[in-house]
Amino acid sequence: MGKVGLGLAVGCAVATCAIAAVMVARRVRSRRRWGRVVGVLKEFEEACSTSVGRLRQVVDAMAVEMHAGLASEGGSKLKMLLTFVDNLPNGSEEGSYYALDLGGTNFRVLRVQLGGRRSAILGHDMERQPIPQHLMTGTSEELFDFIVSSLKQFVEAKGNDSDLSPGKRRELGFTFSFPVKQTSISSGILIKWTKGFAIADLVGRDFSECLQQAMSKRGLDMRVAALINDTVGTLALGHYHDEDTVAAVIIGTGTNACYWERTDAIIKCQGLLTNSGGMVINMEWGNFWSSHLPKTSYDSDLDKDSPNPNDQGFEKMISGMYLGDIVRRVILRMSQESDIFGPVSSKLSVPFILSTPLVAAMHEDDTPDLSEVARIMKDVLEITDVSLKALKLVVKVCDIVTRRAARLAAAGIVGILKKIGRDGSGGITSGRIKGGSHCKMRRTVVAIEGSLYTSYSMFREYLNEALTEILGEEIFRHVILKVTEDGSGMGAALVAASHSARNIQ
Ligand code: ADP
Ligand code: MG
Repeated sequence: MGKVGLGLAVGCAVATCAIAAVMVARRVRSRRRWGRVVGVLKEFEEACSTSVGRLRQVVDAMAVEMHAGLASEGGSKLKMLLTFVDNLPNGSEEGSYYALDLGGTNFRVLRVQLGGRRSAILGHDMERQPIPQHLMTGTSEELFDFIVSSLKQFVEAKGNDSDLSPGKRRELGFTFSFPVKQTSISSGILIKWTKGFAIADLVGRDFSECLQQAMSKRGLDMRVAALINDTVGTLALGHYHDEDTVAAVIIGTGTNACYWERTDAIIKCQGLLTNSGGMVINMEWGNFWSSHLPKTSYDSDLDKDSPNPNDQGFEKMISGMYLGDIVRRVILRMSQESDIFGPVSSKLSVPFILSTPLVAAMHEDDTPDLSEVARIMKDVLEITDVSLKALKLVVKVCDIVTRRAARLAAAGIVGILKKIGRDGSGGITSGRIKGGSHCKMRRTVVAIEGSLYTSYSMFREYLNEALTEILGEEIFRHVILKVTEDGSGMGAALVAASHSARNIQ
C-alpha cells in the first residue's frame, strides 16, 4: 500500500471512529434523558403511594376528624354541617314537586311526580344545560336571572300541575352544592364558593332567600321547601329506594359526602331534638386534610395556583375538576427534563387545558399503538410524533393520578363507615346484629353519584378494589355501593316532599 493509500485508510478509520463516538455519545445522552424522565415518573409514583397501610391511616384520620367536627364548631377542617334533614323519604310521599340543581358543570330543572307508594316515582321531566362560564364569576343579578328564567320557561312548558289544588303553591327542592351553613330545612348561608364559582356579594347571604326574592320579583309563584346539598339529595334518593342507605358520596366536578348521624353524637349542638333521633350531616369532605395523604409537589403547585389555596385539599386530589391538571403538570415537568415530547409545547403551560375526561380517554386507550393518546397529545397539547414508549409514560401518569384519587376516595368512605360503626372493626357494636348464635354484619348501602365513578371505569375499579383491600372480602360483601343517578335533582324534590307542609299534616 502506498503512502496515499495508507493515509486514506487511516483517515477512514478516524472518521468511522468519530462517527461512532458521536453516535455513542448521542445514545448515552438520550438514555440519560430517558433516565431522567423515568426518574420523574418514579419519584411521582412513590410520592403518590397508597399502600393499604397508608389508606388505613387515612381511614382513621377521617373518622377522628369527623368526631372533631361534630364536637365543636371549627373543631376540624371537616365542617360537619347540620342539614336539618331529619327524616329521609320513605316512599309515602305524594304529589308533584319541582327541583333545581346548581352546583357543578350543569344546571338542571326537574319536575317529579310521586305516587305515594315506595318506588312510585310516576315520572319526571328534566332539562339540563351547561352553566355559562361568565355567570360563574359574574354578578348575583346575572346568575339569578339565568336561574329564574330557566325555571320559568320550564314551568311554562311542563307545568300542568293537575294535582296542585287551588291556593297551593308549587314547591321546590333546591340542590345547591356549595358549603352552606344551614339555618333551617329551607334556608342557609353560603360559606364560600368552590369549583370555580366566585360571586363575592353572595358569600355570607341566605342563598335560598335570595332565590325566593328573585322568583317573586320575576313573577314565579313557587316556594323553596328545601335547600339541600347534592350529597343529601343522593342520600335521599338512595334511601327512597333502599332503606339500608346510610351515606352518600359524590365524585364529579368536586367531591363531598354526607351520612345519617344520631343527634346525640352531634355534640356541638347539644339539646338538638328530632323526631327520628337523627339528622343528615353534610361533611364537606372535600376540605378534609391529613398529613397521611400522599401529597406531591405537583399538588402543592396546583394548590398555590388555585383561587382557593389551602382549601379543599382532599377534593384537589380526587375530583374531576383537578385530576387532568395534575396530569398536565407532570407531563410538563417530563417535557422540561428531556426532549421525549420534542420542544416544550406552550400548551402544556395552559392551566386546565387537559380535562379529566381526556385523561380517562388516554388511560382507557386500548389500541396497540395508543392512537387515542397520540391524538390527544397532538390535538390538545400540540405535541406530535411521540414515540410509543413515551406515549406509554403518559398513560402511566394518568394511571397513577387516577389510582391515587380512587383509593383515597375509598379510604374516605371507610372512614365514614368506621365513624358509624359499620366497618366491621369493633365486634357487635361495629355494624353487627345478633342473629341466633352468631353475629351477622348489617347490610350497609352507600349511594354514590358523579361522573368519575359512573363514567370512568378505571376509577370505579380502583375504588372498589381499595374498598375490598381495606375492609377485607368478608366485610366488603355487606357493603354495597349503589349508583344513585340524578340524586342531586330527584333527591331535592323528594326532600321537598318529605318536608313539605302538604305531606306533614
Ligand atoms: P357535576 O359534578 O358537575 O354535577 P358530574 O358528576 O357529571 O357533574 O361530573 C362532571 C365532572 O366529571 C367533570 O368535571 C369531568 O371532569 C368529570 N368527567 C365527566 N365525564 C368523565 C369521564 N368520562 N371520565 C372521567 N371524568 C369525567
Ligand atoms: Mg352533580
